[in-house]
Amino acid sequence: MDTFAPIDPINVFSCELEDWFHILDSDRVPRTEDWPTLPLRAERNVNRLLELLAEHGARATFFCLGWMAERMPHVVRRCWQAGHEIASHGHAHVLASRVGRRAFLEDIVRAKAILEDCIGQEVIGFRSPGFGVKEENRWVFDVVAEAGYRYDASVFPASHGHGGLRHARPDPYVVRTGCGPLVEIPVSTVQVMGHRACLFGGGYLRITPLPLIRWGVRRLNREGRPLVVYIHPREIDPSHPRLPLPLKRRFKCYVNLNTTMRKLQWLCTHCTFRTMRALAAHVDERIGATATRVPAVPGRGEAAVPVAG
Ligand SMILES: [Zn+2]
Repeated sequence: MDTFAPIDPINVFSCELEDWFHILDSDRVPRTEDWPTLPLRAERNVNRLLELLAEHGARATFFCLGWMAERMPHVVRRCWQAGHEIASHGHAHVLASRVGRRAFLEDIVRAKAILEDCIGQEVIGFRSPGFGVKEENRWVFDVVAEAGYRYDASVFPASHGHGGLRHARPDPYVVRTGCGPLVEIPVSTVQVMGHRACLFGGGYLRITPLPLIRWGVRRLNREGRPLVVYIHPREIDPSHPRLPLPLKRRFKCYVNLNTTMRKLQWLCTHCTFRTMRALAAHVDERIGATATRVPAVPGRGEAAVPVAG
């Protein structure tokens, strides 16, 4: 396993394009077969994120569910046409450890095909639902490479509800899989009181006060490490419907929804964001050991000047 710390960090803004009911691992969330009956709210929220990104000239990576791309291909294309990267979040938001290797492979192969059909370009990046790589299912890396992806962004290098590799390297590296090398871009963490802490995505971003986020960003960049932010469209939508989750999950899912946008605005104002593909290509190039599986030449999404979608 090779590690890499960019000298000039490439900061990444990532969004998991899913909807308000795509909550994992609870018997109190709607079943997949009931999803088509539920109102979709992602489009309006994605539009707000696109406005924010355009305002600051930021590029982002949208990890899209195949299921969402089937329902709102125009939204996926709008993100692509606005200059952002389209990557995959799987098809039906399944946890790798729950469905097993074969079903997980089928799910992520299906998503790749749907997304590529939607934008007419190869999709090379993948993020597992729930950052679902654990010590027990490191086979996820092999499956992601087998499905034809060139980089993965599924590692949460700290404790996490659905996954988490607490002892994984916290910065980008290359994983040698049975199907060739795979660039891995973990979520950013910083050391806080002797523990790795993520302050930059999902519930962690919502819980963490802005001054602490600011401190974390400065520390990361001072150390020459990339900042990887992740967000879900529902997190900027305080009035979305609530699911009858147990108290702890309810807190994690719904705390501080009204503060997310302010924090994202601060991040976009003070950081330069590029796509995860750009960071993966940079890692690939610097390590020089992966036979340039991540194309250095950007796709249309990165080269394009933002246009109104
Ligand atoms: Zn997700």
